[in-house]
Amino acid sequence: MKYGIPRGTKDILPAEAKLWQLVEQACREIFALYDYSEIRTPIFEFTDLFTRSIGSGTDIVKKEMYTFADRKGRSLTLRPEATAAVVRAGIENNLISIESLAKLYYLGPMFRYERPQAGRQRQFHQAGVEVFGSADPRLDAEVIELSVRLFEKVGLKDLVVNLNSVGCPKCQPEFRGAIKKHFAQHISDMCQDCRDRLEQNPMRILDCKEAHCQKYLEKAPASLDYLCPECKNHFDQVVGWLGNLGIKYQVNDRLVRGLDYYTKTAFEVIARQLGAQNAVCGGGRYDNLVAELGGKATPAIGFAIGLERVISLITDHQLPITNEGNIKLFIATLGEAATKQGFALLSQARALGISADMDFLGKSLKAQLKNADRLKAAFVYVMGDEEVKKGSAGLKNMATGEQSEVEFSQLITRLK
Ligand SMILES: [Zn+2]
Ligand SMILES: [Zn+2]
Repeated sequence: MKYGIPRGTKDILPAEAKLWQLVEQACREIFALYDYSEIRTPIFEFTDLFTRSIGSGTDIVKKEMYTFADRKGRSLTLRPEATAAVVRAGIENNLISIESLAKLYYLGPMFRYERPQAGRQRQFHQAGVEVFGSADPRLDAEVIELSVRLFEKVGLKDLVVNLNSVGCPKCQPEFRGAIKKHFAQHISDMCQDCRDRLEQNPMRILDCKEAHCQKYLEKAPASLDYLCPECKNHFDQVVGWLGNLGIKYQVNDRLVRGLDYYTKTAFEVIARQLGAQNAVCGGGRYDNLVAELGGKATPAIGFAIGLERVISLITDHQLPITNEGNIKLFIATLGEAATKQGFALLSQARALGISADMDFLGKSLKAQLKNADRLKAAFVYVMGDEEVKKGSAGLKNMATGEQSEVEFSQLITRLK
């Protein structure tokens, strides 16, 4: 019997994993540069947390969650995104307050039952940040800047920020009314999803991807025309700060994020490569979510990056990444005594921070040297029984071809 991988999941094999490590490392470095600390929350949470925060009318909650009962009958869900969990953890551990800024980041797998397609999987990975405690529009600009700098660091080109404001509970009702009125005239000609959304969450109609619905979307009212003075002022300031930071952006009044909790600023970052438009990051402000999940009202903003998308853009267009690891030292041995001695030296090298390896397959010396080449070892140390007797062996610098006799006791110092 052979086992296959579940649909919508993927093995990340060593060659690609190396690229993942580079991207993850870039994320951690940039997040640290902006003074963010990592938070790690569980892979599953109580289902209510997501229903409440993401919104019961959203596609995620209605169709895409991996929900199951545990042995005590409690309803649990594999996290479809991280913000709700970070808010939950922040409240539970008193990390969130209005008096101080909490800047958190995460990296990890998320789960949504979607139709698998290029770049979209049921287990996918996100990196993201969440900041709690300030409604200052400078922070919106800073968070957007951070995302752009991160993509520049990993080599994505031709980035543009799409920016919108979705308003607040004061101004959203009027906009929602206008949207509802507009679509009500056309709804009989629109798709089933749009019909469902008209009552539950008319703003989400703007998200419809059906070709047939597009002509009605074009003429729909824009949220920017309905902002209250406070939201309008906030938006203008964000735009001003982005200009100061030299971040390229375009206002896109169709941009509504697929989750219910956003207020004011909504944004996404698009990488335009080879003519395609790829959204690599989405985020925005969510000033009411903390209170909605039982904390004290605290303004917040964040974004999430789709790492699969970023990785595929890099592999498609940029960095060629090699298959093999680079080790510093390969110890090639011939005979039992040399293998024993080599194994001891191998352990010493590693203990002192030198990456090293040797043969474990009983291969010939020639095959061992070939393997050292494949592993791109910087140095090869070759020993047989005779070398064991004199306590020294030849160390070859693979880049220069230079070879010198080095005592066992001197090997590590020499390599360091
Ligand atoms: Zn408002
Ligand atoms: Zn539609």
